[in-house]
Amino acid sequence: MKARSDSLSDNTLPEALQFRAPAPLVDIGANLTHASFFEDLDAVLHRARDANVSQLIVTGTDLEHARQAVTLSQQYVGLHATAGVHPHDASRWNAELERAFHTLYREANIVAVGECGLDFNRNFSSRSDQERAFEAQLGLAAQTGLPLFIHERDAGSRMREMLTSWRDEISQAVIHCFTGSRETLYNYLDLDLHIGLTGWICDERRGHHLRELVKAIPADRLMVETDCPYLLPRNLPAKMKGRRHEPALLPWIVREIAHWRGESEQRLAQSTTATAQAFFRLTDTPEE
Ligand SMILES: [Zn+2]
Repeated sequence: MKARSDSLSDNTLPEALQFRAPAPLVDIGANLTHASFFEDLDAVLHRARDANVSQLIVTGTDLEHARQAVTLSQQYVGLHATAGVHPHDASRWNAELERAFHTLYREANIVAVGECGLDFNRNFSSRSDQERAFEAQLGLAAQTGLPLFIHERDAGSRMREMLTSWRDEISQAVIHCFTGSRETLYNYLDLDLHIGLTGWICDERRGHHLRELVKAIPADRLMVETDCPYLLPRNLPAKMKGRRHEPALLPWIVREIAHWRGESEQRLAQSTTATAQAFFRLTDTPEE
């Protein structure tokens, strides 16, 4: 990873997008190893801090990106890493990869196994390859005691079956970027899973069904995330240059979710942060 220039005062967000959460937030899904962040990660993290997003979980979606996520977590205060293989890349799973992840999990800054799971929407890897890779990572979570960071798209019933048979073996699991139906949500809550919400709820084309559901998630099971650079909220009050999503916009998502839950932003900020700190066992304390 190349050296980055310090750009402390480089706040390029339009004024209408300079939010500040009323209490420190944890962004549980930030793909900061994505190439779009190479040039200005320092500035991105400064803006996150200005927005009161004080801890971030950097998503590791394959071995290379997981190693980069660990490196970032060592370079920057408040950053932690996950390490796993995304269902899109599941066809690459093999015994050698499994051993490499096993070694990587000894790194102190890795707080979850994942991103792993099932994506029957795009099927970039075959369903059987996805299930095989996910099953192996469920095994790694069971062996290490680490929580799971799970991706599920259009695979709710198969996910439920697989998690049901593993539930007693694994400690905790979050369905990140939940986009499913009420029935799927209730099934996950019955399995005592955690739920991660993104700006999907801000998407009038496909996310408004979540407005009716978010109230059903207990505060001690709910966490928030950007999934940046993807999923830029579609209802932002100003245009975002380049349309890249970033952690500094998380307070906007919190505002939206709080509205539909009928609670204050402050309360939601505090509860999601407490939940995330317990789930990922974060011991560093965020500074306000
Ligand atoms: Zn995902």
